[in-house]
Amino acid sequence: MLPQLDVGTMLVMTTGVSAAMGAALITVRTRQREGLGLWAVALLMQAVGYALYALRGSIPDVFSVVFANVLLSGAFALTLGAIAQFHGRRMPWLGMVLPVVALAFTFIVLVDHVRVRLVVGSLLMALQLALLPLALWCPRPPAQRRGAWVLTIAVAAQVVVLLARGVLVAVDRLQLAEMLHPDLWQSLVFTTASVVIVLAAFGFVLMTKERSESALTALASRDALTGVANRRHLLQTLERDLAASARQREPYAVLLLDLDHFKQINDTYGHQAGDRVLVHLVELLGRRLRRQDLLGRYGGEEFLVLLPSTDMQGAVGLARALCDDVARTPCVHEGATIRYTISLGVCSGTPLAEDRWNAWIRAADRALYVAKEGGRNRVASQPPR
Ligand code: GH3
Ligand code: MG
Ligand code: MG
Repeated sequence: MLPQLDVGTMLVMTTGVSAAMGAALITVRTRQREGLGLWAVALLMQAVGYALYALRGSIPDVFSVVFANVLLSGAFALTLGAIAQFHGRRMPWLGMVLPVVALAFTFIVLVDHVRVRLVVGSLLMALQLALLPLALWCPRPPAQRRGAWVLTIAVAAQVVVLLARGVLVAVDRLQLAEMLHPDLWQSLVFTTASVVIVLAAFGFVLMTKERSESALTALASRDALTGVANRRHLLQTLERDLAASARQREPYAVLLLDLDHFKQINDTYGHQAGDRVLVHLVELLGRRLRRQDLLGRYGGEEFLVLLPSTDMQGAVGLARALCDDVARTPCVHEGATIRYTISLGVCSGTPLAEDRWNAWIRAADRALYVAKEGGRNRVASQPPR
């Protein structure tokens, strides 16, 4: 059982915790419009609300009852807005404003009816808080699971306590005490509130951290010019795929392709046009690939295509189709029609458990050399060993 704590002290503590968390959140710099700013304002509003609670009896009730509760309810509305902003959705104005208006109305009209006011206030705030996990998990669960769970559990605890208090008062099972008198339920409500304030804000910050981490990981595995996988990501995937195909005794194929006479394109049309050609090539190649294939930039004007579950026949067929597509489809850049071709080296077979990525690339490179020597704009193939 909770000891019957001094409510005034707890309110001062909760005020301090809210204000400190709000101020701390303001210092967190993330991408714009992630909702942290709104969450910080909500915490500062809560801090003022709890300070007004603490002054109950020393200031007019309109401040310490009506205004304090409206501030708290407004703070919950802002956290709902923060979640919408995090998801990049429109502000749910109805869900934000309606409960606050209902609560303000109830408290203004029923300022002298303590019991009704407490029941309606508890239930409205529980409803507002219940909207937060709903906005967080619906219609799709968020990718930032750990933070979302921390936030959800924190909010759920507060909802349960508020609902319990509202219902118990409504059915006359709970005696009402004066706001600042020591009372088990007041202790429970305000202890939960201060823990929830910290946990929920922590969960939300964790969500923004999880998101920026995955954005960084995605950025670190991508080529800046063309947006396809970079060399590091390609080789990691190739190494993993080879091991998996060896285990499953599945065929695997690698295409290494290189632009023909690319230096001439740069020299004739300029480096920027050359860059545009690289992007054009990636678009063309992407059209023929399956979901499980991976296209990436291996080096300057060399690309790799990794093809799981693909035998030599399939790989050579695809390579020829890509070669024809490119030869048939010029790149148009600033009025110039730039025709270009590619050569491809294919390596395919069933990987062995001891196969490393470099042996496969070496074989594909040997095949590419044969294609270049054979006159370019063509395909040559080699087994992996
Ligand atoms: P080959 O048919 O034998 O492959 O001839 P090539 O001219 O394509 O080959 P070479 O290796 O002589 O030249 C490759 C050129 O690719 C030289 C380099 O400046 C250019 N290059 C590499 N990366 C980029 C890039 O990101 N943008 C542009 N515009 N050019 C690049
Ligand atoms: Mg090259
Ligand atoms: Mg080249």
